[in-house]
Amino acid sequence: MPIVLFVLAGCAAQPVPRRQAAVVRPRVSAETLAKRLVAQQADWPRRRRYDCGRIKCVALTFDDGPGPYTGKLLDLLHKREVRATFFVLGQMVAADPGARFTRRIVDEGHEIGNHSWSHPALTGLSPEGVRHELGQTEELVRRLTGVRMRMMRPPYGSTDDRVAAETRREGLAQILWDVDTLDWLHRRPEAVVRAAATAKAGSIVLMHDIHPTTVEAVPKVLDTLSRKGFTFVTVSELYGRTPAPGRTYTAR
Ligand SMILES: [Zn+2]
Repeated sequence: MPIVLFVLAGCAAQPVPRRQAAVVRPRVSAETLAKRLVAQQADWPRRRRYDCGRIKCVALTFDDGPGPYTGKLLDLLHKREVRATFFVLGQMVAADPGARFTRRIVDEGHEIGNHSWSHPALTGLSPEGVRHELGQTEELVRRLTGVRMRMMRPPYGSTDDRVAAETRREGLAQILWDVDTLDWLHRRPEAVVRAAATAKAGSIVLMHDIHPTTVEAVPKVLDTLSRKGFTFVTVSELYGRTPAPGRTYTAR
């Protein structure tokens, strides 16, 4: 037990802090605090059990929000009891009035991931810059929702060994995709549906909830993939566990 002894010795060496008499005002509501405590558990959001090695699963992912159309998307997903994964931008979370959509993403059982603060190519930043982009978003999402994010998506899918090292340090897996709908480029619902329909068992589909044309396409995307026998899962559910920090995933 040499490690334990070392830690105990380390604690004993610290000066004992004086007790503060002043009343500490809580920074968050009791509800948020409760959620935060729950979120400290290893598996958040609570995963449903799907064996995606045996059934046809697909993970729909939405980047760059929350934005003005995220509410409509959440309504659609809720109505169909579909869970997705949202890779949010810190700047968009900060601009989300009352954090309404950010909270709904979490409350309605979707998975939330880190897409940086301001969408730079992380490969062009210093390690401190990468840490800042991820850390600021992490801090804000955690403060608003109580959730400690376990995955990130590098903007533009741009990553390298240095970015991977930082994500490992931050405890985040890197989630890429194997189906790119190019929704940001063409802005046509039918093209989103056509691209999403190419998903295979275990695919991760890339979309952006900041485009109304993408949200418009979602009912047909769900219809088309349902008809092909797909079950819609979050990224963690796709793998049956929390993806490993620093590792890169493109599909199951
Ligand atoms: Zn993006």
